[in-house]
Amino acid sequence: MRVGVKEGLIVVTGAGGFIGGHLVGRLLAEGETRLRAVDRKPLDQWFQVHDGVENRVADLTRREACQAACEGAERVYQLAADMGGMGFIETHKAECMLSVLINTHMLVAARDARVRRFFFSSSACVYNAAHQSRPEVTALREADAYPADPEDGYGWEKLFSERMCRHFCEDYGLETRVARYHNVYGPLGTWTGGREKAPAAICRKVIEAKLSGELQIEIWGNGEQTRSFMYIDDCLEGTRRIADGAVEEPLNLGSSELVSINQLVSIVEEIAGMRLERYYAPDAPQGVAGRNSDNTRIRECFGWEPSISLRDGLERTYKWVLDDYMRRWGGRLGPREEAPRLPRPNK
Ligand code: NAD
Repeated sequence: MRVGVKEGLIVVTGAGGFIGGHLVGRLLAEGETRLRAVDRKPLDQWFQVHDGVENRVADLTRREACQAACEGAERVYQLAADMGGMGFIETHKAECMLSVLINTHMLVAARDARVRRFFFSSSACVYNAAHQSRPEVTALREADAYPADPEDGYGWEKLFSERMCRHFCEDYGLETRVARYHNVYGPLGTWTGGREKAPAAICRKVIEAKLSGELQIEIWGNGEQTRSFMYIDDCLEGTRRIADGAVEEPLNLGSSELVSINQLVSIVEEIAGMRLERYYAPDAPQGVAGRNSDNTRIRECFGWEPSISLRDGLERTYKWVLDDYMRRWGGRLGPREEAPRLPRPNK
């Protein structure tokens, strides 16, 4: 059942970002007419600015900004967060944790504005590290988040905010829905600047190798770490189902197609039609050894799970990163980026 389709104001926060920008587009395509998109970045830095939407620039770490964002809203999609790939979250733990201000103020503001549904974008980083210590992983079930030992910084913030959603639902009757996203990728997202995630970063590195003629690629870690990657269209479909559905507890939203980072590189090489010499950066951020999504619950709840193949999704993503690279650098090689080194080992 879709809740209140084409009625009532929908607020999407983090709408200048990757998933938020696509989500606004998806809601418009579904025929929604009353949309408010909010992000901290100036409008000219949003990945997508949609016409017919009330686009607002506001810093949602501030309580008044959250109150203004939620005013008159029927549904809220809370996607705003200070985040990025491993290169960012392992080196900006305090900054990641400060997103708790956004989640706290947004929940309070949504409760006070009598919002009907509040969707929160959580992450697979909430899962206990003990289940992710080997590349040959058993896929993570929702229950594996407890006892808690999530990704330091970013994962703790997400787990705490998930918990707040639960208690706002129990204590105040705010209907909250939570998806645990597993690595989302696709066009119109970050591929440079330090916050990019593995699929976009690898596309960029392959393009750089092509343009420079240096047929080499740096891989963070030993390349044997495993992950699953969900294409943006699957993420949007799952987000809509979870947000409108009846399931109150957090659900995995991820692909279950497990690959190693070495395999991910091979797929991008194949798409680009080239082979590169690999060298490894063992000190670069790399996260857990292995992680996959167990989709039993989402299949049970909705008879659906993400299904777009990594090969298909990467083809579309590579093409977009290449086009955007050419647009930005006019066919020349842009400045190369150094891998950040960890300030201290994770404990
Ligand atoms: P993104 O960085 O592209 O988008 C997040 C947006 O939030 C950015 O545009 C940023 O400017 C905005 N933002 C940050 N602080 C803000 C503030 N104080 N006020 C207003 N806006 C603020 O990231 P994304 O990939 O689109 O992720 C969206 C959500 O999904 C995030 O909550 C993220 O933690 C979660 N998530 C994403 C992934 C993924 O693989 N992309 C995986 C797990 C969870």
